[in-house]
Amino acid sequence: FAPDYIRAIAPYQAGKPVSEVAREFGIDPEKIIKLASNENPLGMPESAKQAVQNALKDTGRYPDANGFELKKVISERYSVPQDWITLGNGSNDIIDLAGRTFVQKGQSIIFSEYSFLVYALVAKAIGAKGIQVPSVNFGHDLPAMLNAITENTRLIFIANPNNPTGTFLNPDDIDAFLAKVPSNIVVVIDEAYNEYLDSAIQYDSVEWVKKYPNLLVSRTFSKAYGLAGLRVGFGLAQPELTDLLNRIRQPFNVNTLAQAAAVAALNDKAFLEKSARINADGYRFLTESFREMGLEYVPSHGNFVLVKVGEDDGAGSRINLELLKKGIIVRPVNAYGLPKWLRISIGLPEENQAFVRALKEILA
Ligand code: PMP
Repeated sequence: FAPDYIRAIAPYQAGKPVSEVAREFGIDPEKIIKLASNENPLGMPESAKQAVQNALKDTGRYPDANGFELKKVISERYSVPQDWITLGNGSNDIIDLAGRTFVQKGQSIIFSEYSFLVYALVAKAIGAKGIQVPSVNFGHDLPAMLNAITENTRLIFIANPNNPTGTFLNPDDIDAFLAKVPSNIVVVIDEAYNEYLDSAIQYDSVEWVKKYPNLLVSRTFSKAYGLAGLRVGFGLAQPELTDLLNRIRQPFNVNTLAQAAAVAALNDKAFLEKSARINADGYRFLTESFREMGLEYVPSHGNFVLVKVGEDDGAGSRINLELLKKGIIVRPVNAYGLPKWLRISIGLPEENQAFVRALKEILA
């Protein structure tokens, strides 16, 4: 039924759902710990739950197609006019829109090795050529990405921090990169994990959006804001790009409850601070444990850590299976070309402890 380039796509493997693991391994779902999808272990903020309750009365009608209230809050928070904002059904929607808006079949999209798999998927879905540039030190090699540009290139994806490795690019290097990218190529800086950055290295990508008309910055409410299940994200770009994205955006792509929850979450500074604190504590605990166990890990700026669990290419799958048997779901990264590694999302203290206990038993 579909063209060759669609039939060639391998399905995206999301983190295993709790219900599936419960059934497969005969474990009480209440006892299962999921550290697999970089979700916020605190769940959704109470403020957002309240907003969802209040918004339920409006759900017999279509959502606000232009997301006026949410754009207003985003506009104030980031000091950009509302016509610089594109709302998405998660930031995956923004990534997908960028591909479909700016790239035709046969043209090319550049991204890094060991970066978010959805970039390659977007290229495949439109029959574009995905150019995967070899990584350096598990992160993006920006000079090599510049060298990979051809006259066919229309789009470049950069994740900062990167998933699944957690690497962080120096903002000065990004600025220098943006200055060198030809102005007819759109660059997406995917900042899904930005809110987890230590304040010492936090940077202002809105300044770049003002400076570079070919830049689109994407953000999400799925991680530090705790709204992964509601599906809401947004893009920031100058009006010309934003207008183009909105021409093919599905008009009701962000539902009423998600819009209301995102407004509340964006105003809930205390929740964001708590999320960052729990994450920093969990990161310290996990990485100390890895050091103690003699396991190599990639220093991370996100809410997850990549850890090497063996020296052979079967290690990730093998240890993953043993963890599943103990009711712990983490993320194998074979599909990213990292079969010796597992990606662990940082959880609540007791979840991190249970994971480390299980890993120690398995590796003993
Ligand atoms: N970008 C990156 C780098 C991610 O890791 C993720 C989530 N795994 C996303 C975007 C998409 O998240 P969402 O669609 O929930 O906003």
